[in-house]
Amino acid sequence: MAKAEAQEAAANEIISSDPATGREVGRVSVTTPDEVREAVERSRQVFHMWKTTSFAERRRLVMRAREVILDEMEAIAELISAESGKPKGEAIALEIAPVLDLMQWIARSAEKMLRPRRVGIGLFGLLGRSSRVVYHPLGVVAIIPAWNYPFSIPLGEAVMSLMAGNTVVIKPSELTPLTGLKIGEIFEKAGFPKDAVQIVSGAGETGAALVEAAPDKIAFTGSVATGRKIAEAAAKNLTSVVLELGGKDPMIVLADADLEAATNAAVWGAFCNAGQNCASVERLYVHESIAEELTRRIVEKTGKLNLGPGIDPDVSVGPMSSERQIRIVERHVDDFREAGAVILTGGERYDAARERVSDAGTSEGKISASPRHRVSASLFFAPTVITGATNDMRPMREETFGPTLPICTFATDEEAIALANDTEFGLTASVWTRDIARGRRIAEQIEAGSVCINEHLYTHGIGQTPWGGFKNSGRGRTHGLEGLLELVQPQHIHTNRITLLPDAWWMPYSPAALETFRGFATKFATGSLLKTATLLPQLWKRIRELMK
Ligand code: NAD
Repeated sequence: MAKAEAQEAAANEIISSDPATGREVGRVSVTTPDEVREAVERSRQVFHMWKTTSFAERRRLVMRAREVILDEMEAIAELISAESGKPKGEAIALEIAPVLDLMQWIARSAEKMLRPRRVGIGLFGLLGRSSRVVYHPLGVVAIIPAWNYPFSIPLGEAVMSLMAGNTVVIKPSELTPLTGLKIGEIFEKAGFPKDAVQIVSGAGETGAALVEAAPDKIAFTGSVATGRKIAEAAAKNLTSVVLELGGKDPMIVLADADLEAATNAAVWGAFCNAGQNCASVERLYVHESIAEELTRRIVEKTGKLNLGPGIDPDVSVGPMSSERQIRIVERHVDDFREAGAVILTGGERYDAARERVSDAGTSEGKISASPRHRVSASLFFAPTVITGATNDMRPMREETFGPTLPICTFATDEEAIALANDTEFGLTASVWTRDIARGRRIAEQIEAGSVCINEHLYTHGIGQTPWGGFKNSGRGRTHGLEGLLELVQPQHIHTNRITLLPDAWWMPYSPAALETFRGFATKFATGSLLKTATLLPQLWKRIRELMK
């Protein structure tokens, strides 16, 4: 409850406050562990009904929920902005629009994607057998999101879960509880059955109570540390988890890259949502031959960004979400300084940065103020560009999750790949080059769940594609076919149409059985029809033996 420290909160409530102004946005009652358990029980009750609904009915309700969002879009964007600090435009562009797109896509495609499918079973098919896979929903899906995309992430996961036939309990982040309640209200207004989507409110303890209540799946988005705790607690009930965790995402700019595009992408990828994106550009590796020019352009563009409250349409960078988060950024910038890196622009809280001119001695690094608002300076951090960074510096290894853009140089493609992979994380990455084939070759060698060529960060907004991390950035996937399959359990239905003859592997065993089994291993198991044909006399002998 870091944002709410200044106000008086009763023990059983959370105060949500605007990080730009400190103003109270609203209060929410904390759900007790008993109430969380009851919510999961109610969810399980309604699941038995919901799983029998047709895809057409689910589609109708999801499309209705889209209409509710569109009707209330301005108010929803303002609420997201007020609670998280992000510019209102970003709330629309990076949260509302992508989730609306995800909703229409999954509403229209889930039935096709989850259609029962026939599975090829090779030579077993010659024995009159066939196999089909049918998908069943899991039951209750618990969604525990972070605060940085408080609308689109839990809402998108809820819609995918519902389309697959599950019911949902969401525990929003304690920093954005009202946006969480709004999600519940949208489903209610759309006409979803009571309790098909429930919201429980609170901080980590409430999330822990939800995990302990033994839902059938947990979709968690947050830090590696909390992800570990959840995986441990979930193991007690063998609940499976999808973990969407942190990142330290590299952007690699090759010498032949479109410099203007790379500059704009780096500035946006590092500073949108005040750098509080799991897939932010957290490390920029640029070929040494263009490093100076790229850095100059980045510093120039950064200097033109307005900081201020997210409600102002001219503002590009809002406040950070909490004191805890801004302190991490300060610590990392200090670490960079101490390790010998150079802060070219920014590097301080907004107050201090207000009149500051970049170390380069030009006015390009000046941080503009948004003149129409008196803002609380405390949670603003000036967008910060750093050169001379190297991978052995601590802030190049830990997630910063703030508006910093450290730049490092490389000489060869191999070096760039090695630098990019030199991390415990592996969420996303990008490669910038005009040579697409070379870009693909490099992309495939990077250990990350999504790698873009000439793009960065935005593919979470393409719901059709899988999202998730390699290494410590996560387990499992959300979005895409892979994400949908996390929300169902496959059932294999196997049919034998020829029951006149016994199976050669049935009892009783005998020397003839042993000989036949050797033939299974050496001939049938090769998958070759020709080799298997040579087994037929032995097989027939064995079957006659069993039929005696
Ligand atoms: P966090 O781990 O502190 O909290 C995430 C959620 O977990 C919150 O709702 C919190 O209340 C809850 N929680 C905390 N302790 C819990 C426990 N013991 N049991 C159950 N729930 C518990 O993370 P945060 O600060 O909210 O978010 C920032 C992190 O999220 C960053 O590391 C960022 O990279 C990551 N993130 C990842 C993705 C992705 O898609 N990979 C997307 C957004 C954010």
